[in-house]
Amino acid sequence: MIVSMKLGATKEQIERVCNRIEDMGFQVRSIQGDERIVIAAVGVEDVTHGIETMRSAEGVESAVPISAPYKLVSKQVRQERTVVAVGDATVGGSEFAVFAGPCSVETEQQINACAEAVAAAGAKFLRGGAYKPRSSPYSFQGLEEAGLKLLRNAADSAGLKVVTEVMTVANVNLVAEYADVLQVGARNVQNFPLLKEIGASTNRPVLLKRGLSTTIKELLLSAEYIVSHGNANVILCERGIRTFENATRNTLDINAVPVLNEMTHLPVILDPAHATGKRDLIPPLTRAAAAVGADGIMVEIHPDPQRAWSDGAQSLTFAQFAAMMRDLEPYVALWAAGRAKLIAA
Ligand code: PEP
Ligand code: MN
Repeated sequence: MIVSMKLGATKEQIERVCNRIEDMGFQVRSIQGDERIVIAAVGVEDVTHGIETMRSAEGVESAVPISAPYKLVSKQVRQERTVVAVGDATVGGSEFAVFAGPCSVETEQQINACAEAVAAAGAKFLRGGAYKPRSSPYSFQGLEEAGLKLLRNAADSAGLKVVTEVMTVANVNLVAEYADVLQVGARNVQNFPLLKEIGASTNRPVLLKRGLSTTIKELLLSAEYIVSHGNANVILCERGIRTFENATRNTLDINAVPVLNEMTHLPVILDPAHATGKRDLIPPLTRAAAAVGADGIMVEIHPDPQRAWSDGAQSLTFAQFAAMMRDLEPYVALWAAGRAKLIAA
């Protein structure tokens, strides 16, 4: 249930409404909009009776049930888009965010070279895995904390933000010490203890990747886990889903962007690298990302993709990455014009 307070509702009226909502067995989440206070009553209780009570409470303008099971991330609760701030960079606002870097952090030289290439192309986020979720236990699993250190140093030298994956509850605080954005990978999108921990124990922005067979509703419920546990800085990432099609590693669900934009206020980025598994297919899909109104993209790059320790086939060379960024420019300019209109509206 969403309770909108009247303009000029008093502190006491707001407090009374919040207490009443709690008495009814809901959790209270209040949202301070530009003009008025909106209170979300979150829980699994039946709201039928509560709605009537709320409608008649002093200072209340309206009380409506929320049909979506994901409440806090839904547009019903918040119309304004969420802009996730990462230092002086933003995702979801007026900047088209570019996340780039190797699949895995391998060596100091490799990650430093990647960081320089990312900065030179004008991107702000350096991605790289130090903890890798690999399908085979025999594949490279990541440099772990040593990798986090290399990643942080490389990003700091190049003036970039760090985005890296956290796979376990036990590592959330450690990864958060080094990272500016915590990535939750496709395979962990429904690791509920991990989502709860990330929600409760850190305010670091989270990049939540859609799973291989996660529906959009399930993705939003996973985001709801993080937000309802206290961390509202969630960025969603469509990275391809598993379909019958096997010409590509996965199938980029481009529908997901406008669908999510209708359903949620959270930013959405696209990862065409994991969606296709093929470097040549990535540049056109980054242009599609801008055209469809995604908030940014994530790609993988490597100084020598043939020798990459993971995901070489979908990693761009630095020259390909620089060309991709140049080709993207006119699309980003159109994107920015559209976004400016959206923000002004
Ligand atoms: C990655 O970003 O390198 C990764 C493992 O992605 P995903 O979780 O989408 O497979
Ligand atoms: Mn990868």
